Amino acid sequence: MDTEVFRAWITSAAAVIEANRDHLTQLDAAIGDADHGANLARGFTAVTVAIGGATTPGGLLTTAGATLISKVGGASGPLYGMAFRRAGKSLGALADVDLPALEAALEAALAGVQQLGAAREGDKTMVDALAPATRAFGKAIADGASRADALSALAAAAAAGAAATIDMQARKGRASYLGPRSVGHEDPGAASTALILAALRDTVLGTAVTGGTGPGDTAG
Ligand code: ADP
Ligand code: MG
Repeated sequence: MDTEVFRAWITSAAAVIEANRDHLTQLDAAIGDADHGANLARGFTAVTVAIGGATTPGGLLTTAGATLISKVGGASGPLYGMAFRRAGKSLGALADVDLPALEAALEAALAGVQQLGAAREGDKTMVDALAPATRAFGKAIADGASRADALSALAAAAAAGAAATIDMQARKGRASYLGPRSVGHEDPGAASTALILAALRDTVLGTAVTGGTGPGDTAG
């Protein structure tokens, strides 16, 4: 996976975040302050511009992270920024990223988020999507899965992890102020993480939203 694949992923992620902006805001309205969709959409729009000059996958992710830190407010900006910057640093100057290198980058991203936010699995945060996704991806690779199957496992585990936050009580972030009343709602950061990782799968598998010019648009 070269720089163009990563550029396509992040561009697609920005489109998916924009398309789900109101949904993410509604999730945050239930257990937070209703800014997650708008925050993230603004940040990713800036990211699509900022990554224009990137020449390596690692450089691209590092730039994406720095941009998210400067453009996205709230808790999620620094956390997503940390995730992308750590992933970029992990990839270093690699021109072509294979599955193990991507797994290492995801692990670095997760470690960065947990270092900054101190959330564990079960605390009802983005960690509840990112951690099981990273684990499922690693297991798929260890089992000899194809790139498509490994990325499908990654995205499926992220989606399942986000859905599992519905039954959790928040112990980190703004939602934790609600105590037991945070139960029954999906965590917005876990939901956006699942969207971003689904965009990665769809980009590499060639089914990403491309704004109307992709080969999949006329299918079916
Ligand atoms: P804010 O809560 O400051 O308004 P956002 O609405 O943009 O920020 O993002 C909220 C999301 O941030 C939550 O849904 C959760 O997934 C994530 N989050 C909050 N605190 C933490 C933390 N300590 N560790 C990991 N993720 C967190
Ligand atoms: Mg919020």
